[in-house]
Amino acid sequence: MKLSKMHFKTLREVPKEAEIPSHILLLRSGMIKKTAAGIYSYMPFGWRTVRKIENIVREEMDAKGCQEIRTSVLQPGELWEESGRWSAYGPEMWRISDRNNRGFCLGPTAEEVFTDIIRSDVSSYKQLPLSIYQISNKFRDEARPRFGMMRSRDFIMKDNYSFDRDEAGLDESYKDMYEAYTNVFTRCGLTFRPVEADTGAIGGSNSHEFTALCEYGESEIVYCDDCDLAATVEKAACVDAPAQDDVEMLPLEKVNTPGTKTIEEVASFLNIPKEQTIKALLFVTYDEEGKEDGYVAAFVRGDRELNMTKLVNALGVHEYAIEFADEEKMSAATGCVGGFTGPKGLHDCKIVVDSELPGLRNLCAGACDEDYHYINMNYGRDYEGDIVVDIKTLKEGDICPVCGGTVKQARGVEVGQIFKLGTKYSEPMGCTYKDENQKDQPIVMGCYGIGISRTFQAIIDMPQNHDDNGIIWPMSVAPYHVIVTIVKAGDEVQEAVADEIASALEKAGVEVLVDDRKERPGVKFKDADLIGIPVAITVGRGAAEGKVEYKLRSESEKAELTVTEAIEAAIAKVNAEKDGRHFFNK
Ligand code: ATP
Ligand code: MG
Repeated sequence: MKLSKMHFKTLREVPKEAEIPSHILLLRSGMIKKTAAGIYSYMPFGWRTVRKIENIVREEMDAKGCQEIRTSVLQPGELWEESGRWSAYGPEMWRISDRNNRGFCLGPTAEEVFTDIIRSDVSSYKQLPLSIYQISNKFRDEARPRFGMMRSRDFIMKDNYSFDRDEAGLDESYKDMYEAYTNVFTRCGLTFRPVEADTGAIGGSNSHEFTALCEYGESEIVYCDDCDLAATVEKAACVDAPAQDDVEMLPLEKVNTPGTKTIEEVASFLNIPKEQTIKALLFVTYDEEGKEDGYVAAFVRGDRELNMTKLVNALGVHEYAIEFADEEKMSAATGCVGGFTGPKGLHDCKIVVDSELPGLRNLCAGACDEDYHYINMNYGRDYEGDIVVDIKTLKEGDICPVCGGTVKQARGVEVGQIFKLGTKYSEPMGCTYKDENQKDQPIVMGCYGIGISRTFQAIIDMPQNHDDNGIIWPMSVAPYHVIVTIVKAGDEVQEAVADEIASALEKAGVEVLVDDRKERPGVKFKDADLIGIPVAITVGRGAAEGKVEYKLRSESEKAELTVTEAIEAAIAKVNAEKDGRHFFNK
């Protein structure tokens, strides 16, 4: 392909909203273009890479016996009514109506549609197991679309659904997908970690997220070097501080603590460690119509962080149906006092107490009175919770909940997630099969997603896949394998040599881009670095003597080679790396 003939436009000025390397580089290199907030178009180079990622995904899915289909982006609301998610899904769902005012959505995922297909096509145990998938655009009206393709409102997802006779079958399907995902992300050149995850809005019993490790990621994971602990921060259990049963309960006292609204302030005013205080977090919840339906006060030890996912799960509400309360409004209804709220003195409010607080003695908490705290608060005697459960966040340096070692923390990007759904969809939707005894049984399901467009961007954020000058694509997903740069466009000798190299490479199955533009050499080298083609062959003055320059994008050394040597080196390099399987040995 000749670059002069391509639609290729780089950006000099990158919009300020692009904050992370991958987003900046995708825009600068012209691989994607923004259409609206969270909505992007893929330009030729970007699209070639996306298709390569899709094909790696296809190969790995097909290798596990999954079959590709394609369903419509438009999904009827009735199907979502059947699963109970039409109202439960919340504001991320793009809802539309047809001319007859029937409700539809732009599919954010497709459990209902796939369940519907299988319930009408499968009747006997003989037709199971089955796994079908699609690669298609998904739509979610994200509250905060950001980081380009990382969190967009229209994105490409591979989703597949497994249908098994029983849990044992599901375990097999799940294991297959775990392996397939490991293969996909390895071949794409990601540094990643599968971690245990919360099941969230999708539901089900068991889940793993595949997290590409990088400091710019929105996901936080915790792991332990001494055991197998690897989980999202949302999911990871915490070890409670040891109970202080042998410590005497001191008499409760209300003390004047003027202006001490934060844990830091009150701890330093009373000269006690933060571990001896109770922190309050106040929320309002909403019903399905979006009307306020109650208040929640959550309490954790002063030095801990509340874990929103654990709180939401404990309350059995949807994440979108709870938010921080307007304290003034809440104060009138519940008696809380901003900065001085504690579990004693609250009314008309659900109280959630973290699991370690009941074991701890003589704590300090707000007195629900301006400028006052209680000291020597003890659970049972002075306060109680409606719910007592682990709602705190595990963090770096904490005790490992599995082995007692020390927890480490890292950031990353969730590029895929797999779920054991069980019968969460098949029961309400009547997706059953007849077993050997002609008895109806619900089909046991799993669902599995890969964010193709998010993976596309996450690859670039890996430290090994970019530098100050641009992208360094792994061969397996590079838009082209080799770029041949003609230093002086119009020079007959150089053009002839470039043609010779390109056709020899193409004959060997190598994808070649020839930069034949009438630009200054500096501009061409800059662009080649920016778009990140793995192998660069430069045809300049040496062409007359049959010499060219050979350089890998990932390395700084250049070599002067004969035309034949350069062709051979490029073919060997491309063949060794083009399917990404060499990453298994790294
Ligand atoms: P997140 O927690 O990041 O919002 P999710 O858990 O809601 O994602 P899933 O329903 O598990 O997402 O979707 C499967 C995959 O689709 C995710 O692992 C992710 O890679 C991708 N994905 C989800 N939402 C988006 C989005 N808004 N933009 C791009 N990719 C997305
Ligand atoms: Mg997910």
